[in-house]
Amino acid sequence: MPSFVITEKCDGCKGGDKTACMYICPNDLMVLEPNEMKAYNQEPDQCWECFSCVKICPTQAIEVRGYSDFVPLGSSVMPMLGTEDVMWTCKFRNGLIKRFKFPIRTTPEGQANAYLDLKGNDLEGGLLSTEEADGKTLSGPAADQLA
Ligand code: SF4
Ligand code: SF4
Repeated sequence: MPSFVITEKCDGCKGGDKTACMYICPNDLMVLEPNEMKAYNQEPDQCWECFSCVKICPTQAIEVRGYSDFVPLGSSVMPMLGTEDVMWTCKFRNGLIKRFKFPIRTTPEGQANAYLDLKGNDLEGGLLSTEEADGKTLSGPAADQLA
């Protein structure tokens, strides 16, 4: 289920050039309706429910409701982003509420590098750098094509 904006809660990020949800969406789905100053998901079919907009929205105006097989109707999953952690509030259909808190990464933007020492040696080759590091070789039609 794609993200959707609860319009009563959205304040258009108080009229900034680019709203927080527009800034964060990896698929450029969120847009601002300039007259009402409310954001909306312009292409719900393309939303992959990454929850980024939900986490960043300063007024908690965005929800993503999970698929009914794991989040039945009437329940919800809501993250609250802090500076050190993210708290997930899971509401069950019967009213039961459970909260889970996880630490978040605090690496400055643009500086995360999970593979610092891993560089591909053969950029023309057909192997991923991780495969190269594991000593894998290409065989079959893929190898013939590169020969
Ligand atoms: S981040 Fe939240 S408050 Fe800001 S425009 Fe998007 S939905 Fe509205
Ligand atoms: S859930 Fe992710 S992909 Fe969907 S609108 Fe929000 S930021 Fe974009």
